[in-house]
Amino acid sequence: MTNSPRRTQVVIVGAGPAGLTLANLLRVGGIACVLLEEESRAFIEQRPRAGFIEEWAVRALERHGLADRLLEKAEIQGSFEFRFNGARHIMNYGELAGHRHFVYPQQYLVTDLVGLHTDQGGDVRFGVRDVRLHDVDTDHPAVTYEDSETGLPHRVECDFIAGCDGARGVSRGYLTAGNALLASHDYGIGWLALLAEAPPSATGVIFGIHPRGFAAHMARGPDVTRFYLQCPPGDSEANWPEERVHEELRIRLEIPGGPIALGALIEKRVLDMRNYVVEPLSRGRLHLAGESAHLVAPIAAKGMNLAINDALLLASAIAAHYEGDDAKLAGYSDACLERIWQYQEFSQWLSEIFHGPTVTATADPFQTRLTEARLRRLLKSKTAAAAFADIYTGKHADF
Ligand SMILES: Cc1cc2nc3c(=O)[nH]c(=O)nc-3n(C[C@H](O)[C@H](O)[C@H](O)COP(=O)(O)OP(=O)(O)OC[C@H]3O[C@@H](n4cnc5c(N)ncnc54)[C@H](O)[C@@H]3O)c2cc1C
Repeated sequence: MTNSPRRTQVVIVGAGPAGLTLANLLRVGGIACVLLEEESRAFIEQRPRAGFIEEWAVRALERHGLADRLLEKAEIQGSFEFRFNGARHIMNYGELAGHRHFVYPQQYLVTDLVGLHTDQGGDVRFGVRDVRLHDVDTDHPAVTYEDSETGLPHRVECDFIAGCDGARGVSRGYLTAGNALLASHDYGIGWLALLAEAPPSATGVIFGIHPRGFAAHMARGPDVTRFYLQCPPGDSEANWPEERVHEELRIRLEIPGGPIALGALIEKRVLDMRNYVVEPLSRGRLHLAGESAHLVAPIAAKGMNLAINDALLLASAIAAHYEGDDAKLAGYSDACLERIWQYQEFSQWLSEIFHGPTVTATADPFQTRLTEARLRRLLKSKTAAAAFADIYTGKHADF
């Protein structure tokens, strides 16, 4: 570590989907970078989160040689079912959009991207502490950090810093401390995110819209299934013993002829549904990508897709800079924001369908009827379904 280079072209903070995609794209383009990650390699290669990757994102990774294993292993899905009022309503969105989702757990993609990068000599430094950014408003920024194993301080000088350190990272603070706008929204809803040792109960996703709260089923392979249960925000996992989880999943998801296979819970985590966007994503030589810049609650499975989109745009803008053209870097933030706001709007719209009929102390019959009207339109109008399919798959999102 002490012999690590002290100067590079780009320092990337954070080895999630955004940072790893960017690092690989820069490496493929012959641009030197140092990738700093506070966790260990083993930890990030096992951290379960996303599973749904949109086809345009997969094809973009494929074009850069980053999707071989994904294409070999991922399951492709183009339909889901809504379950409400005791009936099943199938949405064949893949046929309408001509685009589908690839189901591939995030930790597998992270593992692939770490392997591809390090196998080709990419410089990834795990277990860093106390990352600080310096001189971001100048042409000579730098990043300092401490090596958690040796306790030694390090400084890397660079041309650009990419802040890819997610929702809890340090990079965003350098934007919001300046003139950046932080736009945020809290749904006032929690989701209990669960992974269970259970075989899938359907080939695609099931969205259960129920007066007791939303529930979802998503296959993650032959033996593991992800489930979600709407719960109060800030709820404790301790309030959800396995029997209660199983009972609620049955009540909210099962219909006649549509049983739900259940199994031992291997992950249980309450997520408070909230969103934010930082505008612009850039300050001087610091550019944010992924959840450091924008959080979108996992309602429509959009966050990792946005992270990949930012990384694609940033890699291309940095490459153009080294070819003497700075227009793309100047337009980087606006280019990202187009898709970011389309996905935020779509997630908000879908949230009102998912959570509309929930019977709570503040149950709103007006909201319930709106949800029913939206569902009828979606299920009966081909035009409405086609517009939904376009944005659900992200086929058209650059408005
Ligand atoms: C339950 C759940 C399900 C989801 N499902 C989907 C889905 O199906 N499809 C989808 O598109 N999205 C989904 N998402 C969202 C997706 O997981 C995130 O959007 C994605 O992880 C964002 O990637 P990122 O690289 O921006 O950030 P992260 O994945 O958070 O990566 C940031 C990295 O930075 C590191 N880091 C943080 N601080 C520092 C620091 N100071 N110094 C160095 N390193 C640091 C972190 O350890 C981490 O490795 C889901 C999320 C959850 C929670």
